[in-house]
Amino acid sequence: MDLADRIYVFSGDSLLLRDDIPDAQSALGIPAELLEDLCGPSSEPDIFEIPAIDAPGTIRGALLDSGRDLPPRWRTLSVRQGLSFVSAGETVDGRGPLGRMLRAYHVAQWRRDSAYCGSCGTKNADAPDELARLCPRCGRREYPRIAPAVITIIINETGEALLAHNRKFADGVYSLIAGFNEAGESLEATVAREIREEVGLEVRDIRYIASQPWPFPNSLMLGFTARYAAGKIRPDGEEIVDARWFGTGSLPRIPGYGSVSRYLIDAWVEGKL
Ligand SMILES: [Zn+2]
Repeated sequence: MDLADRIYVFSGDSLLLRDDIPDAQSALGIPAELLEDLCGPSSEPDIFEIPAIDAPGTIRGALLDSGRDLPPRWRTLSVRQGLSFVSAGETVDGRGPLGRMLRAYHVAQWRRDSAYCGSCGTKNADAPDELARLCPRCGRREYPRIAPAVITIIINETGEALLAHNRKFADGVYSLIAGFNEAGESLEATVAREIREEVGLEVRDIRYIASQPWPFPNSLMLGFTARYAAGKIRPDGEEIVDARWFGTGSLPRIPGYGSVSRYLIDAWVEGKL
């Protein structure tokens, strides 16, 4: 399917899928002509077009009101679940069909949240010259918000990695320590602070490895490595309920493909970090 012929349709935090199209294909956009089947001829969904980053052309998206009744044959799939259609090594840098879907999802949410000017409350218009909202009254521009977050694989002197179970994870799943950058803080300082707060360790040699758009709701996830320096593992008990050193031969359940956490864990297992 050509890029211009498909459209990513979102309702709240979900993709809209039709039963006669395989889920994996729907996650990459539905044929644009199906939009009327979904919305009805009289409805006017918020359809937007944005430049694709990795290829010529535009990405089309539509945001429907959440909670609306769906016509027969249509159903929803959470965008997070849509990520499971990625294969090993894909989307880490946000390119490809799934990367475009994440870009459309980020912009769809931003459009919903920026409908009105943050300064004077007037209904915003779309800027004609760039991806921004433009207030017709006071001229304020608003751009898609991107919140940096860090995720770190900590490696100790015997080559083991620290994996932690977060209260929010599925049973038995262990992943890396992550958290949001604070105003006025460097990314390296965020890495050190989050590790100190969540598992009580000190680290050194903090190095950037890779990043990934993570629009849940609007993050850019930056992946780092760090070496263990000092301290005893002490899970904070709030977010992190267990954390341990694991060798490459004795891994617990880890996140699926498509996340930068999985990318970092795989790179460590393969001896690349
Ligand atoms: Zn304004």
